[in-house]
Amino acid sequence: MLNLLITHATLPDGRTDMSIAVQDGRIVEVTAGLDAPAHEKLDAQGLLVAPHFIDPHFHMDATLSYGLPRVNQSGTLLEGIALWGELKPLLTAEALIERALAYCDWAVAKGLLAIRSHVDTSDTSLLAVDALLEVKRRVSPYLDLQLVAFPQDGVLRSRGGVANLKRALDKGVDAVGGIPHFERTMADGAASVKLLCELAAERGLPVDMHCDESDDPLSRHIETLAFETQRLGLQGRVTGSHCTSMHSMDNYYVSKLLPLIAEAGVSVVANPLINITLQGRHDSYPKRRGMTRVPELMRQGVNVAFGHDCVMDPWYGMGSGDMLEVAHMGLHVAQMTSQSGIRQCFDAVTVNAAKVFGLRGYGLEAGCDASFVLLQARDPVEAIRLRATRLKVYRKGRLLAETPAATASLHLADRPAATAWMHPKH
Ligand SMILES: [Zn+2]
Repeated sequence: MLNLLITHATLPDGRTDMSIAVQDGRIVEVTAGLDAPAHEKLDAQGLLVAPHFIDPHFHMDATLSYGLPRVNQSGTLLEGIALWGELKPLLTAEALIERALAYCDWAVAKGLLAIRSHVDTSDTSLLAVDALLEVKRRVSPYLDLQLVAFPQDGVLRSRGGVANLKRALDKGVDAVGGIPHFERTMADGAASVKLLCELAAERGLPVDMHCDESDDPLSRHIETLAFETQRLGLQGRVTGSHCTSMHSMDNYYVSKLLPLIAEAGVSVVANPLINITLQGRHDSYPKRRGMTRVPELMRQGVNVAFGHDCVMDPWYGMGSGDMLEVAHMGLHVAQMTSQSGIRQCFDAVTVNAAKVFGLRGYGLEAGCDASFVLLQARDPVEAIRLRATRLKVYRKGRLLAETPAATASLHLADRPAATAWMHPKH
């Protein structure tokens, strides 16, 4: 007998009336109209079942610290970095772990079951590294947390930057990060990319750098990152995060750059909520959006995913771990409002993010982990439009979270009582 059978599900690719059979934490069959004995049966009633959400870019060491020790007044990236610097000496491992675990609870409730988090390695104590390694251990029964060694203050710019980053990797951090645009000079930025890629190649680790998070069209470290990826044979293991300077670059240069990124197999992560908030802050009007060129990268065949980046921290006071909110902002900022564009934005927080993460067993096919979400929506477009309720969240066949359906009860004069969940009838 099956452990779990889901019936009458709609899948993200549009197939309807699908059954998903689960045994021992894995999907054993996905087929139309299947009925079979199972310990647990769930009738999806035509609603969308999607593989769980993945956040490919987050900062869990800073999350839920909004207002500590003060709020970012200018709203800029640089004041955020300065504010994080003020907060770091005040951090305790206990408080950091508590906030991170609280965020992971939010994430699970929203069907977000895999998070790649950068962790600041600039501080010699590596307090945040130890704390997040502990969080990774504690959440492992219900959430995949991947850590990137992130030299927030610049691996070359800060004293002991290289040594601290290496010590973080020695402790078990999963990937090599960087921040070339924050180094003192363009030359130092490029040198940091080379050094960090060589380090990753030596250790067999993936690379995920904050790359060109700036409005400066001459910030071109993504070019060096793509070049080093090819030189060192790191194709498919490297991600450029943010790449906001590409928004402001000269079009001719971009026409040369995009094929280089595609050839190198470098993924790009945009962070729509943060990019639209932090970029263009030095502009008067017109004010640039600042997000990287998402549809153009996708057309070139580059894997593009969307990250949440920040939730209630020195850079951003909003957010709730909802990757549909991220996709919603992404499609607006990139003007990807066609049906196919919206579906690509759904992919950006699911399958494309899984490629960045290198997550095995992900998807809705026989042999994949039975890790999926039942949404109160009929398809991915409606899921994003409504930031749909996650009715049920499963990981490896186990029910982790349930949220009641969002339904308004209407009490309108001279009309019978009615309910509505913002779904058109046809
Ligand atoms: Zn970031």
